[in-house]
Amino acid sequence: MPTSSIENKTGHGNRFDRPEGRQIEVGILGATGMVGQQMLARLERHRWFRATWLAASVRSAGRRYGDLPWRLSSPTPEKAISLTVETIKPGSGPQLIFSGLDSSVAGEVETEFAAAGHVVVSNSRNHRMDPLVPLLISEVNPSHLGLLPFQQQRKRWSGAIVTNPNCSTVFLAMALAALRQFDPRRLLVTTLQALSGAGYPGVASLDATANVIPYIEGEEEKIETESRKILGRFENGAIQPYAADISATATRVPVIDGHMETVSVELGKQASHEEIIHAFRSFSGEAQELGLPSAPPQPIEYHESPNRPQPRLDAEWGDGMVVHVGRLRPCPVLSYKFVLLGHNTIRGAAGAAVLNAELLTAAGLID
Ligand code: NAP
Repeated sequence: MPTSSIENKTGHGNRFDRPEGRQIEVGILGATGMVGQQMLARLERHRWFRATWLAASVRSAGRRYGDLPWRLSSPTPEKAISLTVETIKPGSGPQLIFSGLDSSVAGEVETEFAAAGHVVVSNSRNHRMDPLVPLLISEVNPSHLGLLPFQQQRKRWSGAIVTNPNCSTVFLAMALAALRQFDPRRLLVTTLQALSGAGYPGVASLDATANVIPYIEGEEEKIETESRKILGRFENGAIQPYAADISATATRVPVIDGHMETVSVELGKQASHEEIIHAFRSFSGEAQELGLPSAPPQPIEYHESPNRPQPRLDAEWGDGMVVHVGRLRPCPVLSYKFVLLGHNTIRGAAGAAVLNAELLTAAGLID
């Protein structure tokens, strides 16, 4: 695997045009889950990637994919129907592997796949805070791919692991990246998270219906720690975390798809209402510069209407890859407050992983 940074590989600021022709074969670990199915759906018409290897637990292994339950509103991807679900065996399957595995098994399995030479693009929490593993949002911290040579050398892996953040963290980190010029220092965040975020079958219907559950195990810590790593600086083979105090409360609400967050932020630098809205609307990153296939042209949409964004009306915008901000107003305690929304299984998981794999490809890190 090449060792230099993304900028060296692509020429910073240049569009990346992958030659037309042969698609890259990819595999999916956990292809039967909520995230695995979203990944498969996103790969069905992908220009660069073709899913040819699907794996899941022994409950599904050996069965024809088309005979297993499909839980998205779009039809089961045709190319997947006749594939047989494989057992999880490192060394089998293509070089590029997406992982939507349950976190009870993802840690060990992903390590074994990386050691066996696979490049694993993971949605699971297990490796996110490993100091040698990039916690990547293609628009925010592509320079963190510089960790990969250190990862391979120190862990003695011929492959690699790249992770995407917790779903709520993706949306918050993108909003903070847009505001970074104003020095965000302290934040209060409350999430209103959709049921699909709990995977399938998820939350019991008697708990979820017409109710709010004020606790999601581990979620608040992920938002607080992952955001600092993502916004951190890559220096001398390590990430120096961003110095902000983040206090999160995570709740589960009876919404199918789309996590909403209310955010109050203290800014170190003065900024007007208009400057902040401009910062959200003009935010873009390497993914846009390179013209990656899954990159939305405008990653953050600011809504003027006071009753937007809403999960049912807005989460699917831009193929589910757009993060929404609305209701920007002064905060009497900190500096400003606003609401955030993103599609949890797409921008917060499957779409984020596919976009990260596109960045790895543009960086020359996939053969
Ligand atoms: P899910 O619907 O429960 O799917 C879990 C997948 O893991 C299934 O394919 C399942 O296979 C497989 N699996 C479970 N136990 C296994 C075992 N012992 N050995 C091998 N495979 C096993 O979960 P999900 O919502 O898709 O989430 C997948 C991962 O992404 C999790 O780590 C989750 O934290 C993370 N994530 C989820 C979201 C979201 O919005 N849902 C967002 C960000 C990150 P079978 O079908 O054969 O049991």
